[in-house]
Amino acid sequence: MSDDGIKDITIIGAGPTGLFAAFYAGLRGMSCRIVDALPQLGGQLMALYPEKYIFDVGGLPKILAKDLAKNMIEQGTQFGPEVVLEAEVQQLIPEDGHIRLVTPRGEFLTKTVVITAGKGALNPRVLECPGWADHYSDTGGVHTHVRQPEDFRGKRVLIIGGGDSAVDWVLGLRGIAREITLIHRRDEFRAHKSTVLEMRQAAERGDVTIRTPYEVGEISGEGGCVARVTLINNDTKEAEELHVEAVVALLGFKPDLGPIGRWGLELERNTIKVSQLMETNIAGVYAAGDVVHYPGKLELIATGYGEAAVAVNNAVHYLNPKARVNPGHSTNLKLFKQDDEGEE
Ligand SMILES: Cc1cc2nc3c(=O)[nH]c(=O)nc-3n(C[C@H](O)[C@H](O)[C@H](O)COP(=O)(O)OP(=O)(O)OC[C@H]3O[C@@H](n4cnc5c(N)ncnc54)[C@H](O)[C@@H]3O)c2cc1C
Repeated sequence: MSDDGIKDITIIGAGPTGLFAAFYAGLRGMSCRIVDALPQLGGQLMALYPEKYIFDVGGLPKILAKDLAKNMIEQGTQFGPEVVLEAEVQQLIPEDGHIRLVTPRGEFLTKTVVITAGKGALNPRVLECPGWADHYSDTGGVHTHVRQPEDFRGKRVLIIGGGDSAVDWVLGLRGIAREITLIHRRDEFRAHKSTVLEMRQAAERGDVTIRTPYEVGEISGEGGCVARVTLINNDTKEAEELHVEAVVALLGFKPDLGPIGRWGLELERNTIKVSQLMETNIAGVYAAGDVVHYPGKLELIATGYGEAAVAVNNAVHYLNPKARVNPGHSTNLKLFKQDDEGEE
Protein backbone atom coordinates (compact mmCIF):
# COMPACT_ATOMS: atom_id res chain seq x y z
CA MET A 1 0.00 0.00 0.00
CA SER A 2 1.06 3.63 -0.43
CA ASP A 3 3.16 5.58 2.04
CA ASP A 4 2.37 9.30 1.71
CA GLY A 5 3.41 10.02 5.29
CA ILE A 6 0.17 8.44 6.49
CA LYS A 7 1.19 4.90 7.44
CA ASP A 8 -1.20 2.01 7.01
CA ILE A 9 -0.40 0.73 10.51
CA THR A 10 1.33 2.42 13.43
CA ILE A 11 2.34 0.23 16.32
CA ILE A 12 2.58 1.85 19.74
CA GLY A 13 5.09 -0.10 21.82
CA ALA A 14 8.18 -2.02 20.64
CA GLY A 15 8.13 -4.95 23.06
CA PRO A 16 7.87 -8.53 21.78
CA THR A 17 4.21 -8.07 20.81
CA GLY A 18 4.84 -4.82 18.93
CA LEU A 19 7.87 -6.22 17.13
CA PHE A 20 5.91 -9.26 16.03
CA ALA A 21 3.09 -6.96 14.89
CA ALA A 22 5.64 -4.99 12.81
CA PHE A 23 6.76 -8.26 11.23
CA TYR A 24 3.17 -9.14 10.30
CA ALA A 25 2.48 -5.63 8.97
CA GLY A 26 5.48 -6.00 6.64
CA LEU A 27 4.49 -9.53 5.67
CA ARG A 28 1.10 -8.17 4.61
CA GLY A 29 2.71 -5.38 2.54
CA MET A 30 1.53 -2.60 4.84
CA SER A 31 3.53 0.59 5.39
CA CYS A 32 4.36 0.56 9.07
CA ARG A 33 5.77 2.73 11.85
CA ILE A 34 6.71 1.54 15.32
CA VAL A 35 6.87 4.09 18.13
CA ASP A 36 8.25 3.59 21.64
CA ALA A 37 8.81 5.80 24.65
CA LEU A 38 12.14 4.11 25.41
CA PRO A 39 15.46 4.77 23.64
CA GLN A 40 15.68 1.11 22.55
CA LEU A 41 13.52 -1.63 21.05
CA GLY A 42 12.58 -4.74 23.03
CA GLY A 43 10.12 -3.58 25.72
CA GLN A 44 10.31 -5.32 29.10
CA LEU A 45 12.84 -7.85 27.79
CA MET A 46 15.50 -5.19 27.34
CA ALA A 47 14.38 -2.70 29.99
CA LEU A 48 13.68 -5.05 32.89
CA TYR A 49 15.41 -8.42 32.51
CA PRO A 50 17.90 -8.63 29.62
CA GLU A 51 20.10 -11.17 31.45
CA LYS A 52 17.34 -13.56 32.52
CA TYR A 53 16.70 -16.81 30.68
CA ILE A 54 13.24 -17.38 29.21
CA PHE A 55 12.07 -21.00 28.94
CA ASP A 56 8.50 -20.74 27.67
CA VAL A 57 8.70 -19.39 24.14
CA GLY A 58 7.76 -22.07 21.61
CA GLY A 59 10.70 -23.56 19.74
CA LEU A 60 13.31 -21.96 22.01
CA PRO A 61 14.00 -24.25 25.00
CA LYS A 62 16.12 -21.59 26.72
CA ILE A 63 17.07 -18.10 25.59
CA LEU A 64 18.35 -14.93 27.26
CA ALA A 65 15.79 -12.12 27.12
CA LYS A 66 18.29 -9.86 25.34
CA ASP A 67 18.93 -12.54 22.70
CA LEU A 68 15.21 -13.08 22.14
CA ALA A 69 14.83 -9.30 21.78
CA LYS A 70 17.70 -9.22 19.26
CA ASN A 71 16.03 -11.95 17.18
CA MET A 72 12.66 -10.22 17.41
CA ILE A 73 14.19 -6.92 16.29
CA GLU A 74 15.79 -8.64 13.29
CA GLN A 75 12.50 -10.32 12.38
CA GLY A 76 10.31 -7.30 13.18
CA THR A 77 12.32 -4.70 11.23
CA GLN A 78 13.17 -6.79 8.13
CA PHE A 79 10.55 -5.01 6.01
CA GLY A 80 11.88 -1.56 6.99
CA PRO A 81 9.26 -0.02 9.28
CA GLU A 82 9.91 3.55 10.35
CA VAL A 83 11.22 3.35 13.93
CA VAL A 84 10.59 6.29 16.26
CA LEU A 85 12.17 6.00 19.72
CA GLU A 86 12.00 8.18 22.85
CA ALA A 87 8.53 9.22 21.73
CA GLU A 88 5.79 8.49 24.23
CA VAL A 89 2.49 8.72 22.39
CA GLN A 90 0.54 11.24 24.42
CA GLN A 91 -2.59 11.67 22.33
CA LEU A 92 -4.51 9.47 19.88
CA ILE A 93 -6.97 11.58 17.93
CA PRO A 94 -9.32 9.97 15.35
CA GLU A 95 -9.71 12.42 12.45
CA ASP A 96 -11.40 12.28 9.05
CA GLY A 97 -9.97 9.16 7.34
CA HIS A 98 -6.94 8.80 9.59
CA ILE A 99 -5.70 8.90 13.17
CA ARG A 100 -3.29 11.52 14.54
CA LEU A 101 -0.71 10.48 17.15
CA VAL A 102 0.92 13.22 19.18
CA THR A 103 4.38 12.62 20.66
CA PRO A 104 7.20 14.85 21.93
CA ARG A 105 9.02 13.95 18.67
CA GLY A 106 6.23 15.28 16.49
CA GLU A 107 2.84 14.23 15.20
CA PHE A 108 2.29 11.14 13.08
CA LEU A 109 -0.65 10.22 10.84
CA THR A 110 -1.81 6.67 10.38
CA LYS A 111 -4.81 4.79 9.01
CA THR A 112 -4.86 2.18 11.77
CA VAL A 113 -3.14 1.69 15.13
CA VAL A 114 -2.10 -1.42 17.01
CA ILE A 115 -1.48 -0.61 20.68
CA THR A 116 1.09 -2.98 22.14
CA ALA A 117 2.02 -0.79 25.08
CA GLY A 118 2.49 -3.51 27.72
CA LYS A 119 2.16 -2.04 31.18
CA GLY A 120 2.38 1.44 29.67
CA ALA A 121 5.43 3.58 29.19
CA LEU A 122 8.25 2.20 31.31
CA ASN A 123 9.40 5.51 32.78
CA PRO A 124 12.81 5.41 34.46
CA ARG A 125 12.65 5.82 38.24
CA VAL A 126 14.21 9.08 39.37
CA LEU A 127 15.50 10.32 42.73
CA GLU A 128 13.52 12.78 44.82
CA CYS A 129 16.62 14.42 46.33
CA PRO A 130 17.43 18.16 46.18
CA GLY A 131 19.29 19.11 43.00
CA TRP A 132 17.98 16.20 40.91
CA ALA A 133 15.48 18.21 38.87
CA ASP A 134 17.99 21.07 38.29
CA HIS A 135 20.53 18.75 36.66
CA TYR A 136 18.44 15.95 35.08
CA SER A 137 19.31 16.62 31.43
CA ASP A 138 22.05 15.90 28.91
CA THR A 139 23.67 19.26 29.67
CA GLY A 140 23.10 19.02 33.44
CA GLY A 141 25.01 15.74 33.61
CA VAL A 142 22.37 13.70 35.46
CA HIS A 143 21.00 10.82 33.39
CA THR A 144 18.79 7.74 33.62
CA HIS A 145 20.26 6.08 30.51
CA VAL A 146 23.65 5.66 28.95
CA ARG A 147 23.05 6.50 25.29
CA GLN A 148 26.60 6.84 24.05
CA PRO A 149 29.42 5.59 26.30
CA GLU A 150 31.59 8.26 24.62
CA ASP A 151 29.50 10.96 26.38
CA PHE A 152 31.31 9.90 29.56
CA ARG A 153 34.87 9.91 28.21
CA GLY A 154 37.34 11.36 30.71
CA LYS A 155 34.64 12.07 33.31
CA ARG A 156 34.27 11.11 36.96
CA VAL A 157 31.01 9.18 36.90
CA LEU A 158 28.72 8.15 39.74
CA ILE A 159 26.44 5.21 38.90
CA ILE A 160 23.49 4.54 41.20
CA GLY A 161 21.71 1.16 41.36
CA GLY A 162 22.01 -2.52 42.11
CA GLY A 163 20.51 -4.23 39.09
CA ASP A 164 21.82 -5.47 35.74
CA SER A 165 21.97 -2.06 34.05
CA ALA A 166 23.99 -0.46 36.85
CA VAL A 167 26.51 -3.29 37.04
CA ASP A 168 26.72 -3.61 33.23
CA TRP A 169 27.55 0.09 32.85
CA VAL A 170 30.09 0.06 35.67
CA LEU A 171 31.86 -2.56 33.56
CA GLY A 172 30.99 -0.94 30.24
CA LEU A 173 32.42 2.49 31.07
CA ARG A 174 35.82 1.14 32.15
CA GLY A 175 38.54 2.59 29.97
CA ILE A 176 36.21 5.44 28.93
CA ALA A 177 35.30 7.26 32.16
CA ARG A 178 38.18 8.68 34.26
CA GLU A 179 36.72 7.35 37.53
CA ILE A 180 33.68 5.15 38.17
CA THR A 181 31.97 4.95 41.54
CA LEU A 182 28.92 2.75 42.08
CA ILE A 183 26.63 3.25 45.05
CA HIS A 184 23.74 1.01 46.05
CA ARG A 185 21.46 1.33 49.04
CA ARG A 186 21.92 -2.32 49.99
CA ASP A 187 24.99 -4.53 50.24
CA GLU A 188 23.54 -7.19 47.89
CA PHE A 189 23.14 -6.64 44.16
CA ARG A 190 20.19 -7.94 42.12
CA ALA A 191 22.30 -8.16 38.95
CA HIS A 192 23.49 -11.38 37.33
CA LYS A 193 25.96 -13.20 39.63
CA SER A 194 28.71 -13.44 37.02
CA THR A 195 28.71 -9.69 36.24
CA VAL A 196 28.63 -8.81 39.97
CA LEU A 197 31.69 -11.04 40.43
CA GLU A 198 33.42 -9.36 37.47
CA MET A 199 32.64 -5.95 38.98
CA ARG A 200 33.95 -6.96 42.42
CA GLN A 201 37.16 -8.20 40.80
CA ALA A 202 37.47 -4.86 38.96
CA ALA A 203 37.03 -3.08 42.31
CA GLU A 204 39.78 -5.23 43.90
CA ARG A 205 42.12 -4.17 41.07
CA GLY A 206 41.16 -0.51 41.74
CA ASP A 207 39.50 -0.05 38.32
CA VAL A 208 36.16 0.96 39.91
CA THR A 209 34.89 1.87 43.38
CA ILE A 210 31.87 0.18 44.98
CA ARG A 211 30.21 1.90 47.95
CA THR A 212 27.37 0.16 49.84
CA PRO A 213 24.99 0.80 51.58
CA TYR A 214 24.87 4.38 50.27
CA GLU A 215 22.19 6.72 48.94
CA VAL A 216 22.29 10.18 47.39
CA GLY A 217 21.45 13.04 49.79
CA GLU A 218 21.86 15.99 47.42
CA ILE A 219 23.16 16.86 43.97
CA SER A 220 24.83 20.22 43.45
CA GLY A 221 26.50 21.82 40.47
CA GLU A 222 28.45 24.65 38.96
CA GLY A 223 27.38 26.52 35.82
CA GLY A 224 24.29 24.30 35.44
CA CYS A 225 26.27 21.06 35.41
CA VAL A 226 26.58 18.54 38.24
CA ALA A 227 29.83 18.93 40.24
CA ARG A 228 29.24 17.29 43.65
CA VAL A 229 27.01 14.63 45.16
CA THR A 230 26.42 14.24 48.87
CA LEU A 231 26.44 10.55 49.73
CA ILE A 232 24.74 9.24 52.87
CA ASN A 233 25.88 6.02 54.51
CA ASN A 234 22.64 4.14 55.24
CA ASP A 235 24.11 2.44 58.34
CA THR A 236 25.86 5.36 60.04
CA LYS A 237 23.86 8.24 58.40
CA GLU A 238 27.17 10.03 57.93
CA ALA A 239 27.41 12.32 54.89
CA GLU A 240 30.36 12.82 52.57
CA GLU A 241 30.96 14.64 49.30
CA LEU A 242 31.99 13.08 46.03
CA HIS A 243 33.24 15.21 43.12
CA VAL A 244 31.74 14.03 39.83
CA GLU A 245 31.04 15.32 36.33
CA ALA A 246 28.21 12.89 35.60
CA VAL A 247 25.58 10.91 37.49
CA VAL A 248 23.77 7.92 35.99
CA ALA A 249 20.83 6.63 38.05
CA LEU A 250 19.84 3.16 36.82
CA LEU A 251 17.01 2.41 39.22
CA GLY A 252 14.63 0.44 37.03
CA PHE A 253 11.35 1.52 35.53
CA LYS A 254 7.94 2.55 36.80
CA PRO A 255 5.14 1.16 34.60
CA ASP A 256 2.43 3.74 33.93
CA LEU A 257 -0.47 3.39 31.47
CA GLY A 258 -0.35 7.21 31.57
CA PRO A 259 -1.81 9.00 28.56
CA ILE A 260 -3.40 5.81 27.13
CA GLY A 261 -6.07 6.08 29.83
CA ARG A 262 -7.21 9.40 28.31
CA TRP A 263 -7.70 8.28 24.68
CA GLY A 264 -11.34 7.28 25.07
CA LEU A 265 -10.57 3.55 25.08
CA GLU A 266 -12.75 1.19 27.07
CA LEU A 267 -10.55 0.05 29.95
CA GLU A 268 -10.82 -2.69 32.55
CA ARG A 269 -8.38 -3.03 35.46
CA ASN A 270 -5.86 -0.68 33.80
CA THR A 271 -5.92 -2.65 30.53
CA ILE A 272 -7.70 -2.14 27.21
CA LYS A 273 -10.83 -4.20 26.52
CA VAL A 274 -10.66 -5.94 23.14
CA SER A 275 -12.89 -8.18 21.06
CA GLN A 276 -11.81 -11.60 19.75
CA LEU A 277 -10.44 -9.72 16.72
CA MET A 278 -8.29 -7.55 19.04
CA GLU A 279 -10.46 -4.53 18.16
CA THR A 280 -10.84 -1.76 20.73
CA ASN A 281 -13.95 0.41 20.95
CA ILE A 282 -12.31 2.97 18.57
CA ALA A 283 -12.62 2.10 14.85
CA GLY A 284 -9.25 1.24 13.31
CA VAL A 285 -7.54 0.92 16.69
CA TYR A 286 -6.47 -2.58 17.72
CA ALA A 287 -4.52 -3.72 20.79
CA ALA A 288 -2.48 -6.79 21.77
CA GLY A 289 -0.09 -8.11 24.42
CA ASP A 290 0.08 -7.23 28.10
CA VAL A 291 -1.97 -4.08 27.57
CA VAL A 292 -5.20 -5.93 26.68
CA HIS A 293 -7.90 -7.63 28.64
CA TYR A 294 -10.39 -10.32 27.61
CA PRO A 295 -11.70 -13.35 29.48
CA GLY A 296 -8.90 -15.90 29.85
CA LYS A 297 -6.10 -13.43 29.02
CA LEU A 298 -2.57 -14.58 29.96
CA GLU A 299 0.23 -12.03 30.20
CA LEU A 300 2.89 -14.01 28.36
CA ILE A 301 5.16 -13.41 25.39
CA ALA A 302 3.66 -16.43 23.61
CA THR A 303 0.12 -15.04 24.00
CA GLY A 304 1.24 -11.63 22.72
CA TYR A 305 2.57 -13.19 19.50
CA GLY A 306 -0.81 -14.74 18.66
CA GLU A 307 -2.68 -11.55 19.53
CA ALA A 308 -0.31 -9.47 17.37
CA ALA A 309 -1.04 -11.71 14.38
CA VAL A 310 -4.80 -11.45 14.96
CA ALA A 311 -4.65 -7.65 15.42
CA VAL A 312 -2.55 -6.90 12.34
CA ASN A 313 -4.38 -9.27 10.01
CA ASN A 314 -7.71 -7.81 11.04
CA ALA A 315 -6.32 -4.28 10.60
CA VAL A 316 -5.33 -5.30 7.03
CA HIS A 317 -8.88 -6.49 6.38
CA TYR A 318 -10.29 -3.28 7.92
CA LEU A 319 -8.11 -1.20 5.56
CA ASN A 320 -9.03 -3.29 2.53
CA PRO A 321 -12.16 -5.40 3.00
CA LYS A 322 -11.17 -7.40 -0.12
CA ALA A 323 -7.96 -8.56 1.57
CA ARG A 324 -8.26 -11.85 3.37
CA VAL A 325 -7.78 -11.87 7.13
CA ASN A 326 -5.80 -15.09 6.88
CA PRO A 327 -2.23 -14.28 5.84
CA GLY A 328 -1.52 -17.78 4.52
CA HIS A 329 1.44 -19.85 5.57
CA SER A 330 4.86 -18.22 5.52
CA THR A 331 6.27 -21.47 4.11
CA ASN A 332 4.36 -20.71 0.89
CA LEU A 333 4.78 -16.94 0.54
CA LYS A 334 6.57 -15.46 -2.49
CA LEU A 335 7.77 -12.72 -0.15
CA PHE A 336 10.13 -15.26 1.34
CA LYS A 337 10.96 -16.61 -2.14
CA GLN A 338 8.64 -19.58 -1.63
CA ASP A 339 5.98 -20.89 -4.05
CA ASP A 340 2.20 -21.14 -4.12
CA GLU A 341 1.17 -17.80 -2.61
CA GLY A 342 -2.62 -17.62 -2.64
CA GLU A 343 -4.35 -14.79 -4.51
CA GLU A 344 -6.03 -12.06 -2.55
C1 LIG B 1 11.24 -10.07 35.39
C2 LIG B 1 10.25 -10.56 34.34
C3 LIG B 1 10.36 -11.83 33.84
C4 LIG B 1 9.47 -12.30 32.87
N1 LIG B 1 9.61 -13.58 32.39
C5 LIG B 1 8.76 -14.02 31.42
C6 LIG B 1 8.87 -15.36 30.91
O1 LIG B 1 9.74 -16.13 31.33
N2 LIG B 1 7.98 -15.74 29.93
C7 LIG B 1 7.00 -14.91 29.44
O2 LIG B 1 6.25 -15.30 28.56
N3 LIG B 1 6.86 -13.65 29.94
C8 LIG B 1 7.71 -13.20 30.92
N4 LIG B 1 7.55 -11.93 31.42
C9 LIG B 1 6.44 -11.10 30.91
C10 LIG B 1 6.76 -10.56 29.50
O3 LIG B 1 7.97 -9.82 29.54
C11 LIG B 1 5.62 -9.68 29.02
O4 LIG B 1 4.46 -10.48 28.94
C12 LIG B 1 5.96 -9.10 27.65
O5 LIG B 1 7.09 -8.26 27.69
C13 LIG B 1 4.77 -8.30 27.13
O6 LIG B 1 5.15 -7.82 25.88
P1 LIG B 1 4.43 -6.53 25.25
O7 LIG B 1 5.13 -6.31 23.94
O8 LIG B 1 2.97 -6.72 25.29
O9 LIG B 1 4.76 -5.32 26.26
P2 LIG B 1 6.14 -4.74 26.79
O10 LIG B 1 7.26 -5.69 26.69
O11 LIG B 1 5.81 -4.17 28.13
O12 LIG B 1 6.44 -3.54 25.78
C14 LIG B 1 5.60 -2.43 25.77
C15 LIG B 1 6.36 -1.24 25.18
O13 LIG B 1 5.42 -0.18 24.96
C16 LIG B 1 6.04 1.05 25.24
N5 LIG B 1 4.99 2.04 25.53
C17 LIG B 1 4.06 2.00 26.48
N6 LIG B 1 3.24 3.07 26.43
C18 LIG B 1 3.70 3.81 25.40
C19 LIG B 1 3.29 5.05 24.83
N7 LIG B 1 2.23 5.75 25.29
N8 LIG B 1 4.00 5.54 23.78
C20 LIG B 1 5.07 4.86 23.29
N9 LIG B 1 5.51 3.68 23.80
C21 LIG B 1 4.81 3.16 24.82
C22 LIG B 1 6.93 0.73 26.45
O14 LIG B 1 7.98 1.68 26.56
C23 LIG B 1 7.42 -0.69 26.11
O15 LIG B 1 8.67 -0.66 25.43
C24 LIG B 1 8.43 -11.46 32.38
C25 LIG B 1 8.32 -10.15 32.89
C26 LIG B 1 9.21 -9.70 33.85
C27 LIG B 1 9.07 -8.29 34.38
